[in-house]
Amino acid sequence: MNKEMIRETDKKKIVSTYSRYDMAADRGKGACCYDTDGKKYIDFTAGIGVNSLGFCDDSWIGAVTAQLKKLQHASNLFYTEPQLKVAEMLTERTGMSKVFFGNSGAEANEAAIKTARKYGTTRKGNNVNKIITLENSFHGRTMATITATGQDHYHKYFTPFVDGFRYCRANDAEQLKDLVDDETCAVMMEMIQGEGGVLNLDAEFVRAAADICAQRDILFISDEVQTGIGRTGKLFAYEHFGVKPDIVTFAKGIGGGLPIGGTLMGEKCCDVLQPGDHGTTYGGNPVACAGACEVLSRIDDAFLKDVENKGRYLKSELMKIPQVKSVSGMGLMLGVEIEGKEAAEAVKEALESGLMILTAKNKVRMLPPLTITYDELDEGIEIFKKVLI
Ligand SMILES: *Cc1c(COP(=O)(O)O)cnc(C)c1O
Repeated sequence: MNKEMIRETDKKKIVSTYSRYDMAADRGKGACCYDTDGKKYIDFTAGIGVNSLGFCDDSWIGAVTAQLKKLQHASNLFYTEPQLKVAEMLTERTGMSKVFFGNSGAEANEAAIKTARKYGTTRKGNNVNKIITLENSFHGRTMATITATGQDHYHKYFTPFVDGFRYCRANDAEQLKDLVDDETCAVMMEMIQGEGGVLNLDAEFVRAAADICAQRDILFISDEVQTGIGRTGKLFAYEHFGVKPDIVTFAKGIGGGLPIGGTLMGEKCCDVLQPGDHGTTYGGNPVACAGACEVLSRIDDAFLKDVENKGRYLKSELMKIPQVKSVSGMGLMLGVEIEGKEAAEAVKEALESGLMILTAKNKVRMLPPLTITYDELDEGIEIFKKVLI
């Protein structure tokens, strides 16, 4: 199909939940993507933080295809080894106890929400089911996770929403103290609010929240769906903040492009869910887990150091551009505040000039593949500079 046909068929046949950019991605390698006309783009999106090793990494393809030829799926009625390997790697590196596997970020958060509610209600009483999340957060698109998402514009059309969520201003420890009561079972937050505009939480606030949770036997949940798996220069962003969550949710970056997510649970709550309480047919699928194994084994300390260095480099180069007012975020998750142009307009123009970038609220968001080279970074920065003039 040529682009015209692709555009028309999409309009006719696909439910229009996305306002897509005018580009049909066809193939890619590393941080380079090619559209159906053969035009090249530098990729600063990694499929929204998913393609951690870039497009079509050779070792990742090897790992995934080897598993694909051996066993593609057996269901969770049987044991399969690839998910055990991923679970072992994640628990060893985090000190968490166990993991539940799903297929997306929303599902990872659903499992966290269910775990928190069973934890609260079975230990303390039926009314202990309230979950506090932050204003301007994003936790997913299912009924419970859009309710958890602390942004009003997600809270229309789909009534009734799920009961029992309360919203706290980010970085307001006093309000959090006021909101926490005897009915609270969990506090959930992103260490850096991604969709909300790449806003780093204050470390004092995160520590205060973790302390309140520990004192009152409330589960502290870190939604690391966007920040996790090396994106910020640590395996998980909570490590930057000196806290130890009871639950860590992850998805996007772990599969390297295959759909997989999950919920890491610490010793307090790792045995809360029991047979029959939760499940999903594809969760921990062997092929997705083989991809995740490859991603995790690549992200060692040297790799993380490299992400940190590349992030620092990208940030400092961006700060040299006169139209750039500020750069937020950590590692290779950056939010760029620009002047003279709307972020959405800059993203469109960048695409025309051969650079894929994202928006997050009023900012330009950059989430390049973690394996991007300095040359590719430079190429992207040059295009971005010209777009801002
Ligand atoms: C993307 C995202 C989600 C939702 O993940 P899906 O895989 O789209 O369901 C949840 N939380 C955060 C922080 C995210 O960035």
